[in-house]
Amino acid sequence: MQHFPFCPNPACVWHTQAPTTAWAHAKGSYHTKAFGRVQRYQCPRCHTTFSSQTFHLSYYLKHPIPLDPLLSRFLNGESLRAISRALSLSLCLISNRLERLSRQAIGLHSRILAHTRLSDDICIDGFVAFEGSQFFPSDIPIALTAHSQFVIDLSHASHRRAGTMTPAQKMKALRLYRYTALEHGALERAFREPLLTALRLAPPRPDHPFVLITDENPHYPRVLSSLPQWHNQTPQHRLVHWTVWSKLPRTVSNPLFASNYIDREIRKDLAHYHRETTCFPRNVAAAMLRLSLYLFTHNYLKPFRIAHPSPFSSHAHAAHIPLSWISSFAHELTCGTRLFVSHLSLSPSMHRTWMKAWKTPGKHHPDSIPRFAVA
Ligand SMILES: [Zn+2]
Repeated sequence: MQHFPFCPNPACVWHTQAPTTAWAHAKGSYHTKAFGRVQRYQCPRCHTTFSSQTFHLSYYLKHPIPLDPLLSRFLNGESLRAISRALSLSLCLISNRLERLSRQAIGLHSRILAHTRLSDDICIDGFVAFEGSQFFPSDIPIALTAHSQFVIDLSHASHRRAGTMTPAQKMKALRLYRYTALEHGALERAFREPLLTALRLAPPRPDHPFVLITDENPHYPRVLSSLPQWHNQTPQHRLVHWTVWSKLPRTVSNPLFASNYIDREIRKDLAHYHRETTCFPRNVAAAMLRLSLYLFTHNYLKPFRIAHPSPFSSHAHAAHIPLSWISSFAHELTCGTRLFVSHLSLSPSMHRTWMKAWKTPGKHHPDSIPRFAVA
């Protein structure tokens, strides 16, 4: 009899901890074109039926495809339509598989973070993009370690367009902003979320304060000074905010190098963030899923340095994440068992990304999410 680690029903007591012996009862089978004969099982505790497919990344699929070539094309700058043409697969199928990979990457990253403490300084800067319309630019603060460029967390805020506009653009902006409500205080919230994750992972210690490196954005000191961690500082637990002049050359010696580096990598590698592209994202929730997939694979799959040889194989390795966890991420991402959100401890922004709960300005209906992804 096949052994399953837990019952897939989130309401069952065996969902969190199942017996160590084989507990699932065989209950018939059915035939599928994609997987042949599939054996069904039943949980004796809650009577929910399921199959081995329930725990697989390809759960609910009618057309499984190898995920490695798809991931490689996505991470190397091909747009979704280019991938669709090259692999002769529909755009919907490509988007669906990337969504599954994104959730898997978020889950694996959060599992590693749950057992990680970082000792590096933290850089946070907002990546500037837009989804749907340039009248609704977005600020995507990304928290990462200063010396190992290990991405910790990211968030998102849509806001109004600023800067010079022609009279026609001003009229259009007025019309759009009259009918589109944007979240109040979104920029502050978007900065606070990755900052709190970073504070949890790299808390101030008696021998090293928590060092936050940012540019001179006026929101940042305001948010930082509103945190209880800022008010409750002691000589043993100090928080340091280091602001960097934005006109400093963007070299390796710039204290904000990690943020400048990740901005450049995103612009270079992701088709929908190239300059002047026509492949720009149309939906915030889908864009955040794909950006999370890119950033978390950057941590574990991308070499730390190419031009100058380094003792570290990846950014996660440079951040002192054990090599066995890094190789487990690489394997589990495309070939592992499906992760259940109820088993993960996600940060608020990662949870919003998983649930596709980011709101696209001007879009009135929430994004749909498969029922199994909510379990
Ligand atoms: Zn059960």
